[in-house]
Amino acid sequence: MHQLTLAEIARGLADKKFSSEELTKTLLARIAQLDPQLNSFITLTEDLALEQAKAADARRANGESGALLGAPIAHKDLFCTLGVRTSCASKMLDNFKAPYDATVVAKLAAAGAVSLGKTNMDEFAMGSANESSYYGAVKNPWNLDHVPGGSSGGSAAAVAARLLPAATGTDTGGSIRQPAALTNLTGLKPTYGRVSRWGMIAYASSLDQAGPLARTAEDCAILLQGMAGFDPQDSTSIDEPVPDFSANLNGSLNGLRIGVPKKFFSEGLDTRIAELIHNSIKELEKLGAVIKPISLPNMQHAIPAYYVIAPAEASSNLSRFDGVRFGHRCENPKDLTDLYKRSRAEGFGPEVQRRILVGAYALSAGYYDAYYLQAQKIRRLIKNDFMAAFNEVDIILGPTTPNPAWKIGAKNSDPVSAYLEDVYTITANLAGLPGLSMPAGFVDGLPVGVQLLAPYFQEGRLLNVAHQYQLNTDWHTRSPAGF
Ligand code: GLN
Repeated sequence: MHQLTLAEIARGLADKKFSSEELTKTLLARIAQLDPQLNSFITLTEDLALEQAKAADARRANGESGALLGAPIAHKDLFCTLGVRTSCASKMLDNFKAPYDATVVAKLAAAGAVSLGKTNMDEFAMGSANESSYYGAVKNPWNLDHVPGGSSGGSAAAVAARLLPAATGTDTGGSIRQPAALTNLTGLKPTYGRVSRWGMIAYASSLDQAGPLARTAEDCAILLQGMAGFDPQDSTSIDEPVPDFSANLNGSLNGLRIGVPKKFFSEGLDTRIAELIHNSIKELEKLGAVIKPISLPNMQHAIPAYYVIAPAEASSNLSRFDGVRFGHRCENPKDLTDLYKRSRAEGFGPEVQRRILVGAYALSAGYYDAYYLQAQKIRRLIKNDFMAAFNEVDIILGPTTPNPAWKIGAKNSDPVSAYLEDVYTITANLAGLPGLSMPAGFVDGLPVGVQLLAPYFQEGRLLNVAHQYQLNTDWHTRSPAGF
C-alpha cells in the first residue's frame, strides 16, 4: 500500500479497496519501522491521524468525495498546528505548541487530508542540506551517508522513502525544488502569493512560499489544489482564481517554447548533470516542444543579492524570539539584557545566528544603502530579465542543482559552498515566479532534478509539462533500495 501515489490512493478509497484508517495504520507502522534510519519526522501525531482518518472514512461513507479525502500527508514543522508542537527544528521553539492552525494546515484538513505528523527541516528553514536541525540531520534514502537537501529535507526524505505519498514544504530560495531534486521527487514552488503564508513561521517574508512535495506532477497538482487560494489573513496573498490543476495535465506540448539559459550550463555544473538535462530537453522536443536559447544577464548576481535580502528579513522576523514573547528562556537571568542575550544565544543554532548577524549588519545605518538597497535593485533587474525572457518563451528549463547530494558534513566548514548550491533556484524566489523540479536521472546512484520555471500564476503549465514528461519517462518511478 505504501507504494501508492495520491492519485492511486484517491481511486482506491473511492473504490473501497481500503479505508483511510487501514492506510494510515499501515503508514504509521512503516514510519515506526523505517524512520529511525532517516530522522525525517520531528513529531508524529498518531492519535490525531487516526481520528482524521476515521472522520474521512465517515465522510466518504456519507457520499462525499475528493482527491484528498482520507489521503495521508505530513507538514513541514514550520506550519503552525493547533495543540501540536511547531518547532521550526530549533531549540528556541522546542516546546512551542501553536494556538491555531496555519491556513495551509486548516485547508488541507478541511479537504480531508490526514496529517501523520511534522517533518524535520533545517533550523528556521535556513539551509540546503537539512543538517542544521536541532533534532539532528536527515538522511537521504538513496544513500544514508548523503544529505537529502534542505530545508524541506524531512518532507522530501519521508516521501522518497515511501513513508507517505506527499508532504508540504516551503521554498525561500529553493527548499522545495532542491530537496525534490536530491531525492527523486517532484516539487513545486508556487507563485509568490498563491498559497497563504498565514501561520507559516517566517524566514524571509518576501520570498517564502509553501508548496507540495510528491512523487509525480499529478500528485503535486492534487496537493497544490488543497493548499492554494486567496487568504485575507495574509496581506501578500493574491486574489487570483485557482484553476483546476488536475484537469489541465493533459494539454499538448506541441509548439511549447522552452527557453534554455546558456548561463545555467556554465562553469560549476557537474557535466554528468548537464548531460541528463540535455536528455530531458530531447525528450520534451519529441513531445513537440521547441527549444530557444535565452539569456538571463543578471543571474550571476542572484546569490549575493539573496544572501543579503534573506538574512535581512530573517534578522527582523526572528527578533520576536526573545525569551519573553516567544521561545526558549535562559535560566536565572541577571537582568533583562542578560535574559535576551543568553536566551537567544542558547536557543538559536550557529547557522541561524550567522544569518541574524549578517542581516542586522546589512540593515544597519551606514550599510543599508551599500547592501540592502543594492540587493533590492538587483532583485528588480532579475525580475526584468525574466519578464523579457517570458516574452519569447513559455517556460524556462535548466538544472535544479549544480551537484547531486553531497555527503553529510562535507560542507560544514564552508557555508558559502552550500550557498552556491542554490544558484539555479533562488532567482525564481527573487522574482516571485513559480518553479518545479522533477526527476531527470541519476549520477553515481544519486537523483538529479530538472527545473522548469513559468510566468506568474502558470503553475498549471508547469504541472502539464511535468506530467507529459512523466508519461514518457520512468525516472520518477524509481525507488531507493531498502525502502
Ligand atoms: N538554501 C537557502 C537558504 O539557506 C534556501 C532555503 C529555503 O528555501 N528555505 O536560505
